[in-house]
Amino acid sequence: MSHAPGALAEIINKRRTFAIISHPDAGKTTLTEKLLLFGGAIQLAGAVKARGEQRRATSDWMAVEKERGISVTASVMTFEYGQHTFNLLDTPGHADFSEDTYRTLTAVDSAVMVLDAAKGIETQTRKLFEVCRLRDIPITTFINKLDREGQDPFALLDEVEQSLALEVTPASWPIGMGRSFLGCYDLFNDQLLFMEKSRDKVTSSVQCHGLDDPKIDELLPADLAEKLREDVAMARELCPPFDLKAYREGTLTPVYFGSAINNFGVQELLEGIAKHAPPPRAQKAQERQVEPDEEKFSGFVFKIQANMDPKHRDRIAFFRICSGKFERGMKVKHVRSQKILNLHNPVLFLAQDRERAEEAFAGDILGIPNHGNLRIGDTLSEGESLHYTGIPSFAPEMLRKVRPDDPMKAKHLGRTLVQLGEEGAARVFKANLGGDWIIGVLGALQFEVLGDRIRTEYAIPVHYESTQLHTARWVEADDHRLLKQFVDRHQVDMAEDHEGAPVFLARNAWHLNTAQENFPKVRFLQTKEQT
Ligand code: GDP
Repeated sequence: MSHAPGALAEIINKRRTFAIISHPDAGKTTLTEKLLLFGGAIQLAGAVKARGEQRRATSDWMAVEKERGISVTASVMTFEYGQHTFNLLDTPGHADFSEDTYRTLTAVDSAVMVLDAAKGIETQTRKLFEVCRLRDIPITTFINKLDREGQDPFALLDEVEQSLALEVTPASWPIGMGRSFLGCYDLFNDQLLFMEKSRDKVTSSVQCHGLDDPKIDELLPADLAEKLREDVAMARELCPPFDLKAYREGTLTPVYFGSAINNFGVQELLEGIAKHAPPPRAQKAQERQVEPDEEKFSGFVFKIQANMDPKHRDRIAFFRICSGKFERGMKVKHVRSQKILNLHNPVLFLAQDRERAEEAFAGDILGIPNHGNLRIGDTLSEGESLHYTGIPSFAPEMLRKVRPDDPMKAKHLGRTLVQLGEEGAARVFKANLGGDWIIGVLGALQFEVLGDRIRTEYAIPVHYESTQLHTARWVEADDHRLLKQFVDRHQVDMAEDHEGAPVFLARNAWHLNTAQENFPKVRFLQTKEQT
């Protein structure tokens, strides 16, 4: 069905697809839960965690996750608030799973950066921020845990500005801190916000007319009222006023102060995202830029998750719709294979559940069940051969050999590893000499998760053996004879990835440097875009 001119754009413009980036323990889970409460998507506080537990109980390979008490898989939560539809993409916070997180960030239009008021910017926050910056993703900052003693608000703003090279505009200003924390002054809407001590209650607010409003003196102790006026005057002097364009270009961040666990500051944050965060953005394909409100449906796979339901051994491809409208049963082109796929049972992810999708629009995330034919980076479209770009595959930082306990299972293991490689669960390489399989990951925990999956899902007992390898680089050259010369010269150090692309396995930094110096026209790639 086609839409009246502008109608499709109007629906799409109401979507906000975003992720939360943070260092573990800053409060991402708590904030997610409160956001979902506002969206009416969950009734009970604690439901996010409860849902996680249910999932763990039904999935064996998640045993590792359970043991460690961490979440290793990203998921999607869709909820409505006011006029808007929000798609919140969850990102695993643990450093070992950052690769999944990075890919998830290719599918969002903005991000919320959560900081712990006592700790400021931490290592994982910085790494994730750098990925957002590469893609010019607008960042909204939420400084959490104001109910505890933390750093001075000016020091926090200064840290964001200096260490991330990002302009800051406070959206709210804290009144007191720790035990004496009363609430915030909402600088965008000129109102006092009081924190309710009961955790289930929502902030109460009092509308003011500027900071000179006598109501402020009635409601706040004299010393706090005076400090608020001084602080805000200074903040306004030091920080630029909010500039929508600069925010959307990713050079300025509005900063909200709050306490997620007390449900304080969360509603203002959500309203800020609704008002300022960009609707679905135009996306780059190799061929051209694709606008979200084009009539024709298209999008890309940014993540594959296996065995979400162990009874069905299914895989779910997480698919970001980049343009147009999805309708159940529609036929689309799988560009890599040029085959036609019938999308009859994709799902949408509601906060607590999956639901069969009848229709969905640019900005939304579909879960497409499949048996391995969809890979990370694949484009689906209503006919046009588009190739979306920018979905990265990273050079592994740790490499180990993987061997079957029973040598008769070597072939079976090979096929399994190719599948896992396609899924993007890890890099898998087959050594040119000897044919050993080598797995490359970004964090050691990934080895465990993968080993567990190979044993339980594919029933192949395996073990790892350490290697002397330092890192891997995909190699490319414009002149294929030169590339062949390079490969021939380095046979013992060469392998192929799951797609047969040549990879150089370096024993140490010096080994890599020498190879680069000897072959200056060969490109050594740290990341490979999925093809
Ligand atoms: P995540 O690792 O980023 O998902 O963090 P969690 O949401 O699990 O929170 C980490 C810890 O901080 C938990 O013990 C939370 O209860 C606590 N926490 C979260 N928000 C607040 C807050 O606003 N104030 C205080 N005092 N603690 C909080």
